[in-house]
Amino acid sequence: MTAFKPEILREEAPPAFAAQCQGCELARQRHRVVWGEGNQQAPIFILMDNPGAREDKEGHPFVCGTRETLQLGMKEAGLELSQVYVSYLLKCRPVRAYDKPLAREACFSHLRFQLEEKKPCILLGLGNIVVQTLYPEQEADVKGYRGRWHAYEGIPSVFSYHPLAVRRRPVLMKYFVQDLKLVAERNKAGLC
Ligand code: SF4
Repeated sequence: MTAFKPEILREEAPPAFAAQCQGCELARQRHRVVWGEGNQQAPIFILMDNPGAREDKEGHPFVCGTRETLQLGMKEAGLELSQVYVSYLLKCRPVRAYDKPLAREACFSHLRFQLEEKKPCILLGLGNIVVQTLYPEQEADVKGYRGRWHAYEGIPSVFSYHPLAVRRRPVLMKYFVQDLKLVAERNKAGLC
């Protein structure tokens, strides 16, 4: 059996209007805007809270623990990397404390733009912050939303644990894989 080896997905350059975005205080912390990565025409749009470290101290790209665990779960669920695009509520990586609600509100227009542009068949939201941002009026959390289909703005959607939570609590992996299987099965069935 070959050992699991995570892949560095190709990053998509941000559109000109976003590359120098000054929409929130993260503009002063970031190295660059991280628009997303993976297949730009993918049927599945994976949404997490914010980008983590992407380069080591020497500037070499690497796959962080979050993306490694995501890819491991995908492999277990039979979900191919070519089928996904990965992006974030915030397009800049925070390195210091910041006003989270203000930043999420400021950055939301970029996510809207992406969803309108890419028109994904399936949205896979990972982590409580994503659930609570997309469903702010409700007592929303992953526990209450995972394991079944939803429709966010008309897009068939599944929610699950953040890969970092799965990494910290391996007991969550089986639920994570169950949720990813829902997505893989719908995608394979071509229900777009
Ligand atoms: S996090 Fe979003 S709104 Fe804030 S500066 Fe970056 S791209 Fe702009």
